[in-house]
Amino acid sequence: MASLSRIVADIATEMAAAPDRGTPAGYIPPLRDVDPARFGIAVVEADGTVHAAGDADMPFSIQSISKVFTLTLALGTVGDQLWERVGREPSGTAFNSIVQLETERGIPRNPFINAGAIVVADVLLGNHEPRAMIGELLRFVRELADDDRITVDHLVAQAEMATGHRSMALAHFMTAFGTMHHAVDRVLGLYVHQCALAMSCRQLAMAGRFLMARGVNPATGRSVVSPQRARRINALMMMCGHYDGSGEFAYRVGLPGKSGVGGGILAIAPGRAAIAVWSPGLNAVGNSQLGTLALERLVQRTGWSIFDPVP
Ligand code: GLN
Repeated sequence: MASLSRIVADIATEMAAAPDRGTPAGYIPPLRDVDPARFGIAVVEADGTVHAAGDADMPFSIQSISKVFTLTLALGTVGDQLWERVGREPSGTAFNSIVQLETERGIPRNPFINAGAIVVADVLLGNHEPRAMIGELLRFVRELADDDRITVDHLVAQAEMATGHRSMALAHFMTAFGTMHHAVDRVLGLYVHQCALAMSCRQLAMAGRFLMARGVNPATGRSVVSPQRARRINALMMMCGHYDGSGEFAYRVGLPGKSGVGGGILAIAPGRAAIAVWSPGLNAVGNSQLGTLALERLVQRTGWSIFDPVP
């Protein structure tokens, strides 16, 4: 096997030249304007070594990747009671779909589709003001990534607050079923700000380290979640992290992963590495076109798919 640095550099070179780059998300105005030529990749190995290439240090809107961090916080707050309000099954429907919510009476299929993440935001609000909870989330992500430069892009949050009619509809629909505990505008306030977290591939891969390391932040040695919880969050990412593209992602990449419409993907190779890729162009189901291709090539060249036999 070529060295990991070589593999990462080669993938960045190949992606820079890739002709079919997908289309940036059009429905959140500031995301529409991001240059589709961008591509970044960062791989943090279990021993802390970082390999980065392309636009690995350019912050982008992490969007739904934030759902991994809010899920982690919500499980820390209410534990398994969370599963009374949201399921753990793949949805097979689009990230912003409303169709299952009616027959399933306001209980979203999983915490990674928009409806599920809105419930998680409702849980996190508890007795907090949205602003305080956004601050807590930012502190959590900064600590995980060991980087205080991470911020929320307020322009992206405002744009989504003004245009996020589907998410608002989901929240109102669940309110009608009595499954929400807080006012829709407060929950959406938290939700759009978590989605507007701006992070680079390097920062995101660093923040994902606890998921490859049995729940421990390898830099501090401190436990973020129990080993069992880390394993379970990875299982949810594997089954639900790419919405109705989760089967395809498992087939091609074979790693727990979470995508966002900003074009980022956080992927976990348990025991080996936390990986973040970013390219703004999306495929038909809203997952990064080149991000997926880059991860597919990475696992082909490293043997890191969880379905590869352990050497
Ligand atoms: N903020 C986006 C939305 O609610 C997140 C969707 C995504 O990244 N898939 O539509």
